[in-house]
Amino acid sequence: MIIAEQKPFKEIYESVKDSEKLLVLGCGTCVTVCMAGGEKEVGVLANQIRLAAGKDGGKIEVTEHTITRQCDEEFFDEGASEKIKEADSVLSLGCGVGVQHIVQLYPDVVVRPGVNTQFYGATLQQGIWTERCAGCGECVLERFEGICPIARCSKSLMNGPCGGSSNGMCEVDPENTECAWQLIYDRMKRLNKLDKLMDYQPPKDWSHDRDGGPRSVSREDVLF
Ligand code: SF4
Ligand code: SF4
Repeated sequence: MIIAEQKPFKEIYESVKDSEKLLVLGCGTCVTVCMAGGEKEVGVLANQIRLAAGKDGGKIEVTEHTITRQCDEEFFDEGASEKIKEADSVLSLGCGVGVQHIVQLYPDVVVRPGVNTQFYGATLQQGIWTERCAGCGECVLERFEGICPIARCSKSLMNGPCGGSSNGMCEVDPENTECAWQLIYDRMKRLNKLDKLMDYQPPKDWSHDRDGGPRSVSREDVLF
């Protein structure tokens, strides 16, 4: 899923304090799971804004709504469409995709981001999420038995570790980050495939990554 963190309240408030009719719009998918922008966060943030505006003597009318997914047009029928049209500004707690999708669907409304979108990650435990995929566009997990050196090695090394791996941890952050290449080695050993590590990995084809500009996927078989 996409992992995001809510922006500091001061930054959020600065971005919306001049609006008169503000809709705080949550998203019920990734940002709900990582507790950055779901229904609960919408409620708390809306109240914080009301309180701050009250203190400032401002007159922001704040409404709240959360839809299943901000990145899919069909879910805006869940009552969001009317509320967006009634507002002069929307504070989106969806990821950056959600914010831009609202801008595309409702070009007359001002949309502000309420979260900082971080990465594609997994839940390690309640309150801890970690990066697992960098969306490189050409998955090579098969070659590394399911451990991604691009997303999980701090230097995205494809042909073995650097000299900074120590006790299984990465030199870039020895307290918190496991060395991806230690993980790859341990995985190969477990599967009795250490000889696979002798294979030379040719330079990766980065043309599928985002360096070639914005990417699209089109599936002719499901187009209608
Ligand atoms: S190889 Fe690419 S697509 Fe596969 S997990 Fe790593 S970054 Fe993601
Ligand atoms: S210590 Fe391991 S994870 Fe860190 S940069 Fe070196 S090889 Fe990559």
